[in-house]
Amino acid sequence: MPEDTVGIDLGVLTFVQDSDGRSVGRLDFSDERKRLEREQRSLSRKQYESNNWETQRRRVATVHARMSNKKRDYKHKLAHYYTTEYEAVFVEDLNVKSMLEASGNARNKAEVGWRNFSTILKHHGRKNECHVIEVEPSGTTKECASCGVETEKPLWVREHSCPSCGFELERDWNAALNIQSRGLENLGVVHSEATPVETATAVDTSEVSARRVVEAGSPALKESPKATSRAG
Ligand SMILES: [Zn+2]
Repeated sequence: MPEDTVGIDLGVLTFVQDSDGRSVGRLDFSDERKRLEREQRSLSRKQYESNNWETQRRRVATVHARMSNKKRDYKHKLAHYYTTEYEAVFVEDLNVKSMLEASGNARNKAEVGWRNFSTILKHHGRKNECHVIEVEPSGTTKECASCGVETEKPLWVREHSCPSCGFELERDWNAALNIQSRGLENLGVVHSEATPVETATAVDTSEVSARRVVEAGSPALKESPKATSRAG
């Protein structure tokens, strides 16, 4: 039975919020977008299918490729981290989640990224012998991780503040804790020694930038002794 488990909430504003309090940002593509605009503008001024046009078309393609490599690299590093650091990783079942959540341009784009990350996560799970388990996503945001009472929460409400038991936590962290509890239930673990909520209140959220993940290869703030011993 896995002891080290984590729930991951995939979000629109931040890419990942996990039940251990890590909030991992989205990649910043502002430089690449500027460059892309410039190269595309230049392409539009070239004579169609001329040699110059062809050279410029390749430049545009290079920027696109750089952006998708950066995304891919980022997701692989995150997936590697979670599947080596934990014995079980719980995520929401995206086939169900997509039907529940309101659609919109930002969300549709985010969803493509979530599906892709979920696939990468499962791949690393198999490789690193970590269970990657999908859980029922309905109500993970509304539900209080401490007492289970549901409260309506529009997207702009970033804090979970339970009217019933008074439990307060960042919105997505609360959701990640619910995802973790559901995953543990799926595995047949009903009572663990420390409930996720007790662990959560003991630490602060640590925000990790996407850039850090890309550069350091993981969202860990310090080199974890656990990760080191498993690697070695
Ligand atoms: Zn509550």
